[in-house]
Amino acid sequence: MSAFAKDSPHNKWGIKPLGPNVPPLQWKSAVNKRSLKSNFKSQPVSGKVLLLARDSQPLATLVIPSGENDSIREAAMVLQTMWEKISGAKFPIVMESELATLPKEQVLISLGATLLAQKAGVSAVDLQPEGYRLRTVGNNVFIVGNDDGKGVDVHGTRNGVYALLERHFDCRWLWPGELGEVYSRKSTLVLNPLNEQDEPAVEVRNLRNYYPGEFYPNSRRQPHRQHKAALAQLDRSVEGFVENVIGSGTWFEAMGLGQSFDLQYKHAYGNLWEKYGKKHPEYFALQSDGSRDQSAAPHQARLDVSNDELVKVIAADLIARFEKDPTLASLSISPNDGGRTGFCMCEVCRRFDPPNAPEITLNLGKGHGADKYVSLSDRYVTFYAKIAEIVQKKFPDRKLGAYAYSAYKTPPLYAKLPSNVIVGFVGLGYLSEKDRQSDLQNWDLWTSAASNLMLRPNAFYGGLGYPVLYPHQLGMDIKHCYQTGMMGADFDSLMHNWGGQGLNYYVLAKLLWDPSQDIDALINDYCNAGFGAASPTIQKYFSTLEKLTTQLAQNAVDWEDVSDAVANRSQYRQLRVLTDCFTDSNLDQLQGMLDQAKTQASSDKIILNRIKFLEQAIRYTRAESKPARLFLKMISDKSAGADPANRKQLIKDLQERKTVFQDIYDNHFYSQSLINSMYREWSNEMWQEFGWELPRVD
Ligand SMILES: [Zn+2]
Repeated sequence: MSAFAKDSPHNKWGIKPLGPNVPPLQWKSAVNKRSLKSNFKSQPVSGKVLLLARDSQPLATLVIPSGENDSIREAAMVLQTMWEKISGAKFPIVMESELATLPKEQVLISLGATLLAQKAGVSAVDLQPEGYRLRTVGNNVFIVGNDDGKGVDVHGTRNGVYALLERHFDCRWLWPGELGEVYSRKSTLVLNPLNEQDEPAVEVRNLRNYYPGEFYPNSRRQPHRQHKAALAQLDRSVEGFVENVIGSGTWFEAMGLGQSFDLQYKHAYGNLWEKYGKKHPEYFALQSDGSRDQSAAPHQARLDVSNDELVKVIAADLIARFEKDPTLASLSISPNDGGRTGFCMCEVCRRFDPPNAPEITLNLGKGHGADKYVSLSDRYVTFYAKIAEIVQKKFPDRKLGAYAYSAYKTPPLYAKLPSNVIVGFVGLGYLSEKDRQSDLQNWDLWTSAASNLMLRPNAFYGGLGYPVLYPHQLGMDIKHCYQTGMMGADFDSLMHNWGGQGLNYYVLAKLLWDPSQDIDALINDYCNAGFGAASPTIQKYFSTLEKLTTQLAQNAVDWEDVSDAVANRSQYRQLRVLTDCFTDSNLDQLQGMLDQAKTQASSDKIILNRIKFLEQAIRYTRAESKPARLFLKMISDKSAGADPANRKQLIKDLQERKTVFQDIYDNHFYSQSLINSMYREWSNEMWQEFGWELPRVD
């Protein structure tokens, strides 16, 4: 079948939802499917205390399996590096095949599935991928992990190394870079006999790294336009930035982040218009003028999801791809993001839209723009389900990933998904309590429409670099989602605002591995490890920031009241709320606590530097807020905007801000990411109308 007949309901555009008249959803709390129980196990073992290093001399050897194995070698190098930092002793790493030449009395630290481990009966095959076991047998220490990711790279042994360092050598990774690495120097290293194991609670634990990080320079991840636009404003080079971010991935590794399931659920139909636009325009969304043209933004083409021929074409393509690659665990069926054209408003599509679905603002295309309509979730869930049922017959074990997002974010009223669909729920943020509560309710309702749910928040985009802190709420939400069946979480994107928001990242990463952990205990441990004698004051400082953030989020209903000129850009709206919250007197109070902490830490240079690291968030907030407040006044009040004195003042404030930002960038790189907020200013052409020049970027 090709194009629809002229009088086909597929060609009848309208704005009346024609779906079944089912009642609106009533929120009821989701059923708890599992309890908060740790996978960590430790059994008492007898044996002698092992002496690993004395007077900065190594008395042990790190043994790795013979043959190539980058992950295990890397894990051994992590251990080697950290033990050298702690003790000054550099431990040799040898392949098992070279063992014969070693003195007999040596303590051997065996990593991965060595023959030695096999002989001792220590393995990790019974554990979840990425899980690990640490065990001493006689004179030997075994660190074994399940490194079998079935098509994805997993690092169980490496997780074991980091856990050994954290639990038995008091190491912590508070943030990327030297200053965030916690360890104390001692020239003698010992290890008590142990038998421990642990496994991650969920298969996907992803915090997306906004910096090129560990992927550079070997891979396709180069600095992109966002980074370049921001760097140009700071007068800093792309090459220097790349140098700075090498190693940003270490923190993610140390926290055991990763995934053992290769989940695909990103926007999937980028090439459909190119492929079928000419031959099968009827696959694409009907517009009010009768056209289905998607050429204005072909990669964001919108589809006529009620077209069953299209469903068959998509399913056949998925089946072909699964056939071609037996290692593929999943493929995506998510619609494209954004798009210039409107969603399909043909009659057949509208027959899926229940009139009682929640009201949303929808892009209806040319001549209509954003208008009120009902949520499209039932329509999209039906589309997902039809594709999934065809694919499931052929490949019952493979999964299909789909977003709950945009116009199809709210839970469906009647449509249900087959068990091979994984829904990525895009939601949860911490700058509006109202939105958070509504997202939590939506999550709960989705748990009965889909059997596999992923949490996919954009929370870390919020706050524009201000020190918004919410570890308790974030932590409680992770616990709740875990208990109600979350198969994993994928946070987009960790912006590297470590000075002001690092505690959010830390608590989150820890809970994704083991959601049974106590949030206060994690915060207490973070502060004790990083700030020693100043820990109580730093905890007070963090809790003050958290209180301010909670207030901000609770007052966020007022976001709608901000003046039109400010409200039409979400960045400005956020800035208004943030500058109102972080007043000078609040900042003075916060600074006072940091000053007190500095006095308490006076003799410890590293702790002092860590407090200075936190302090950059306050410094950033002051430097940013001064011109921002004036700017918001100037755009919302015409006469203020036209006043030459204000314009002059704004340029002066921005010049001062630039000096502060350059200093933060050069001397406290990981404390504060200037990259994302500077990029947003650039893309919004902020400040420009009042005479501040923004650089051109290719
Ligand atoms: Zn349609």
